[in-house]
Amino acid sequence: MTGKLPVAVRDKFYLTTTLPYVNAPPHIGFALEMVQADILARYNRLLGREVFFNTGTDEHGLKIYRAAQKEGKEPQDYVDEYATKFDRLKEALNLSYNNFIRTTDKHHIKAAQEFWKLCDKNGDIEKKLYQVKYCVECELEKSESELNHGKCIVHPHAEIEIIEEENYFFKFSTYQEKLLNLYKERLDFVVPESRFNEIKKFVERGLEDFSISRLKEKMPWGIPVPGDDEHVMYVWFDALINYISAVGWPDRMDEFEKWWPVVQLAGKDQVRQQAAMWQAMLMSAGIPPSEQIVIHGFITSGGKKMSKSLGNVIDPFEIVDKYGPDAVRYYLARHIHPFEDSDFTEEKFRAAYNAHLANGLGNLVGRIMKMVVDLEVRAEFPEFKKVIQHPQIGVGESLEQLEQYEFNKVMEDIWGEQQGVSFLDHFIQREKPFSLMKSDPPRAKELIEAAVIKLWYIAIMLQPFMPDTAQKIQNAILENKMPEPLFPRLE
Ligand SMILES: [Zn+2]
Repeated sequence: MTGKLPVAVRDKFYLTTTLPYVNAPPHIGFALEMVQADILARYNRLLGREVFFNTGTDEHGLKIYRAAQKEGKEPQDYVDEYATKFDRLKEALNLSYNNFIRTTDKHHIKAAQEFWKLCDKNGDIEKKLYQVKYCVECELEKSESELNHGKCIVHPHAEIEIIEEENYFFKFSTYQEKLLNLYKERLDFVVPESRFNEIKKFVERGLEDFSISRLKEKMPWGIPVPGDDEHVMYVWFDALINYISAVGWPDRMDEFEKWWPVVQLAGKDQVRQQAAMWQAMLMSAGIPPSEQIVIHGFITSGGKKMSKSLGNVIDPFEIVDKYGPDAVRYYLARHIHPFEDSDFTEEKFRAAYNAHLANGLGNLVGRIMKMVVDLEVRAEFPEFKKVIQHPQIGVGESLEQLEQYEFNKVMEDIWGEQQGVSFLDHFIQREKPFSLMKSDPPRAKELIEAAVIKLWYIAIMLQPFMPDTAQKIQNAILENKMPEPLFPRLE
């Protein structure tokens, strides 16, 4: 069983976000996951690796069925509308995904049914009476330990519902040992370690079979269970299968085998589903496990969970409209911790924008390019891969932190004292090439040439994070001209 591939060996990369549930517009937490995935996809492409970058929408289940009913719409019309909203994030945040799967897609429905048949054939599906406490907001069953005063911990305002009916169950309980073995063999199967420990403990406590169907007469909005007209699949069971149906399973097995296994990005509320339930399902169907599960934290606003009633919701579309995609990508990559909960307020965003984008990077590019243009400085500017592979430059070493998903550390380097924006700022203050431009033009030219090469390396490092900005800086350098102001100062 192979774990995460060593950096040097990898020549292709399959990564996916989770599929957001389409009962509300995209929120900033999902924008974070998308931007993280996009940075990884771009970084891997720049290294010359072939990349499959999957995202999409999760469209079945009770919550959507009820939301559509409430708006007086057919569920299909309702999810069509929302899928379009989510796909608009691509343009807004300049995302480079190449696949947008919807769990209502025909080939996905077929895959889910084939998958069901495999688990059934393997003896992992059985019918029994189902009585459970259920949070519709989570679309998850809740055990007593997951409730607080009888309410969902994540959704304390929502009523817990009691569901009692005949259901099909997946024999999750028989996968305890196999899952623990998987965790033992793959030392970095779940990142970060704290989340890995969390899922290990969960599985060690023992697993309960989970329901994977719903009675159609109560809830018709799901994929039909093969061979039983009275049941549709439970939304989680169907949705998780997207990670294999997206790359051709089961119809195009050559395509599937080319890309599988996958690196999955997910939020901290998804550890159990992605790292345990889904992995047991894969085992049941005889498919190798995912390559790695990478878990990010939540975004709070002003230290509180975002909510309409508190008026602290950050809308990703609004913030991009106001400040541009690269400024938002910048903030999410640098000021939101890759694994821990972090805070996002517009006030903090504006302060970071002025300090690091307007005054920091933007100002630096303007000052250097003015001197470059005045003195007509020209030099050799190597491309991404060359810079990465050149150990003395240090760019590759820094970017390699992306293999550990340390987005913020790379950003700290880009703005840092070693080789980044801060370094160049101090270099120019110290050497004062601008004051030598008249008295000692050859020396001034030498200093500016050194500065513009360093600036080129910064632009190279920015490519996966802020692709437009990186391009603008590189164009200005190559064409020997002043760029448009990159980040006008906010008042
Ligand atoms: Zn809940």
